[in-house]
Amino acid sequence: MKIAIIGFGAAAIGFIEKIKDSEHEIHVFEKSKDIYSSSISGIRADGKLFVSKEMGGDIEVDIELQEKLVEYYISKTSDRKFERGSSFTNHEFYNKFYAKGFQPILSEFFHLGTDQLKQILYTIYKDFKTYKNIHFHFNADIEGVTMLTGKVLLNNKKAFDKVVIAVGRSGHKLIQTIINEFPEAVTDNTKVDMGVRFELPNHIVEELNEEMYEFKVKYKSKTGYMVRTFCNNPSGFVVTENYGDFATVNGHSKLKTKSTNTNFAILTTVKLTHPFDDPIGYGSHIAKLSNLLAGKRKVILQTYKNFKSSKRTKNLYRVEPTLERESYILGDINLAFPRRIAESIIDFVENLNSVIPGVANDDNLLYAPEIKFYSNKLSNDKFEDLKFIGDCSGGTRSIIYATAHGWLMAEDIIKNVL
Ligand SMILES: Cc1cc2nc3c(=O)[nH]c(=O)nc-3n(C[C@H](O)[C@H](O)[C@H](O)COP(=O)(O)OP(=O)(O)OC[C@H]3O[C@@H](n4cnc5c(N)ncnc54)[C@H](O)[C@@H]3O)c2cc1C
Repeated sequence: MKIAIIGFGAAAIGFIEKIKDSEHEIHVFEKSKDIYSSSISGIRADGKLFVSKEMGGDIEVDIELQEKLVEYYISKTSDRKFERGSSFTNHEFYNKFYAKGFQPILSEFFHLGTDQLKQILYTIYKDFKTYKNIHFHFNADIEGVTMLTGKVLLNNKKAFDKVVIAVGRSGHKLIQTIINEFPEAVTDNTKVDMGVRFELPNHIVEELNEEMYEFKVKYKSKTGYMVRTFCNNPSGFVVTENYGDFATVNGHSKLKTKSTNTNFAILTTVKLTHPFDDPIGYGSHIAKLSNLLAGKRKVILQTYKNFKSSKRTKNLYRVEPTLERESYILGDINLAFPRRIAESIIDFVENLNSVIPGVANDDNLLYAPEIKFYSNKLSNDKFEDLKFIGDCSGGTRSIIYATAHGWLMAEDIIKNVL
């Protein structure tokens, strides 16, 4: 069978690794000009490999396969160098959070580091290139697919028996084109995660930062909304993220330069029902409203005390923002956020303060908006010859889950055909 895979990221790697020894002819179409310049994602920056049943994606991937895929990536390093850690495997911490109504997220992690990823990716590519049935096509931006009986055309030209779309989040344009043409492919698009980046002095969360690399908890707030932490950055920095027509906040940490603050996202999952069908539109409008108040490409910064009392922040006290001065304005996030989201965040922080005293200090900082868009959930049952794997399918959000999705899809194809 002649199979096209669109995009060469984590999902494609899992797919090709599993199918490479079969008889199938595999063509990989990647829009970047070569293996070194493909779009930025976790297999090109950072490379944290998580093993967890509770995070990384909504598809079912057993721990055995996750561990096997972690070992696959580690085996591609030149000298098996990586950092290792875990979250909430310490019972004392787990119990402390659990007792206050939090759901601690258990995970093991393996950190490869940005510095090694280029070489790992190249080693994988070089291995695939040795297979006669695998053909790479770079500079190949796929803009659309056409379905004919028993065949799928790419860009209205090349015909394949099966097309597997693995374009990640950076391939949203192609996904939107496919959805416009085949709306029945979408099974769910009702969710968006809205919230703030929270920043506080390191010493308040020191014990937690020492105990685990990434502290992830979920909490069902009194509003009924699920609230979660995401992307904890000890000694880190807050940055803005430019989406073209609006700006949001994010956080990161550097290997050498350290700040005296820790930042993490506090996100509320907003899940709406029929006739709502535009979570990206909803999130973007709130982001634009925040930017409108803050000034073009700026975000709003507010102290926790002022956030609680809906007053504009005019002065800061002890906590020095790590976001550069020209990127924010002191203001009132409540003018842009729906009340239910603001109340969910306050309930979360107050409750977190009962586990980590000092989290709810008046002068801790909130930056808004932080938004995580979910990809539309796409069906793999609707079309025989057109499949979606990895983040673009809406089913995964991590390197290991995306790689596993590709692996499992290849396994299915092999089983059904042989
Ligand atoms: C900055 C960043 C850091 C991250 N860090 C981590 C981390 O440490 N750990 C973790 O588990 N997850 C991390 N993630 C998430 C992780 O990278 C993704 O979940 C995972 O890579 C998804 O795999 P994928 O194959 O679906 O997409 P990708 O790995 O993004 O691959 C998609 C590929 O498709 C190509 N493409 C897109 N459109 C087209 C088109 N139209 N035609 C042809 N080719 C196209 C792209 O150039 C890209 O190479 C991070 C994400 C980002 C953005």
